[in-house]
Amino acid sequence: MAVFGVFGTSLANVASSAYYGLYALQHRGQASSGIVVNDDGVFRAYKDSGIVNEVFTHNVLEGLGLGQMALGNVRYGTSATKERINAEPMLVNHVKGRLAISHDGALVNYAELRRELELEGAIFHTSNDIEVFAYMITKARLTALSTEDAICQAMERLKGGYSLLVMSPQKLIAVRDENGLHPLCYGKRDDGEYVVASESCALNTVGATFVREIDPGEIVVFTKDGVKSIRTHCGKQPERLCVFEYLYTARPDSVINDCSVHLARKRAGAFLAKAHPVEADVVIGAPDSGIDAAIGYAEESGIPYGLGLIKNKYIGRTFIDPGQNVREDKVKIKLNPVVETVKGKRVVLVDDSIVRGTTCTRVVKLLRDAGAKEIHIRSSAPAFLNPCYYGTDIGSKEELIACKYTPEEMAKIFGADSVGFLPLEDVVKLAESGTCKGYCKACFDGLYPTEIPKMMYDSKYNYKISEKK
Ligand code: AMP
Repeated sequence: MAVFGVFGTSLANVASSAYYGLYALQHRGQASSGIVVNDDGVFRAYKDSGIVNEVFTHNVLEGLGLGQMALGNVRYGTSATKERINAEPMLVNHVKGRLAISHDGALVNYAELRRELELEGAIFHTSNDIEVFAYMITKARLTALSTEDAICQAMERLKGGYSLLVMSPQKLIAVRDENGLHPLCYGKRDDGEYVVASESCALNTVGATFVREIDPGEIVVFTKDGVKSIRTHCGKQPERLCVFEYLYTARPDSVINDCSVHLARKRAGAFLAKAHPVEADVVIGAPDSGIDAAIGYAEESGIPYGLGLIKNKYIGRTFIDPGQNVREDKVKIKLNPVVETVKGKRVVLVDDSIVRGTTCTRVVKLLRDAGAKEIHIRSSAPAFLNPCYYGTDIGSKEELIACKYTPEEMAKIFGADSVGFLPLEDVVKLAESGTCKGYCKACFDGLYPTEIPKMMYDSKYNYKISEKK
């Protein structure tokens, strides 16, 4: 999931900036896209299922008109949240005015807060936790002196990993949870407009210069009088940026906490080469997020890097599933081996992660069919042993292959010659050139920085005691 916001004081094509900003953040979510334009307090919104350039045709974008501010979102869907109704930003009319609100992440106490609000008479339309954010903020706003004060009060109860953007008629407000689990930064353009984005790559795309990260627990308020920081929640909890941002989620050209994602991935590959060396002829990367680590593995090991797999760049949500009977072809439509790179060779295949093991099984078959003599799989993330409760789609333990099998057993299942994972102790060293003080790596070590959900709410509208364990 990703958020993007533009704040200016004069009328401009802010919808276009939001469009290009979200376009740059598309890798963080492909289920739905949405933009709200704020024109002197009049909100014009459009959101739908689909990727940015499918949802925002020229006419739709033009229909949003000009404004001083805009707020945008792309989200990805697990089975419960990919429906159209869960698309963001959410528009809220409350007694003190109007808000547009959008987030990246998840609340760990979503079900409890939702039930509490329902018992007070609240009505929910979606299964997206953005509604709980909206209710908690507007409820606090009944007595708070400003929207930012209301957010500050609501944060006492909102627990989890989230980066949040709230737009009122006069303000754009950027918020990061107390642990800073997901990235959020802002920049400035030469025309004076401020731009807030989940990742720095989106700032570059719209011509903004990076100013700084929003700190964990910080609320940053953009108004016509300037930029104000509220630090009531800062420093209360240790910083715990999701380390998987460096390994998979973020784009390699983004910089998070002064550390390049590309360099962090290359370092992961180098650590992997030291921990799991093997005699081989070529190192290849699984596109796209395995490439950087494969280069790092090759550099450290001295084994040449080769272009071994090509991914069709145009596969999106419009991809027509050819059905069960042509399943093998389906894999080849998405991914095809470069025979000249792998034929007769001992191949090291670097992927960013192994979750259920589906990708590895398919890719190993492709490479064997292309004539690879040996295939050694290396994962630049450690083994996933625990679910994520902060918005990354890492499922329950039953779904995680590393919970059930050893690397040797996995190699047999995949049809590979060996499997090796990045050692857990190396994961915190990936971005040590940066300024982050600590990471969440709970999906690997089970050490969650917050309470974990006591109750879950499923897609059939039932409350359940936590089911993800
Ligand atoms: P699997 O096929 O289930 O083992 O998943 C591993 C593949 O999924 C890797 O190639 C990753 O690039 C990708 N991946 C890892 N984490 C996620 C995620 N949270 N959402 C979607 N894809 C992911």
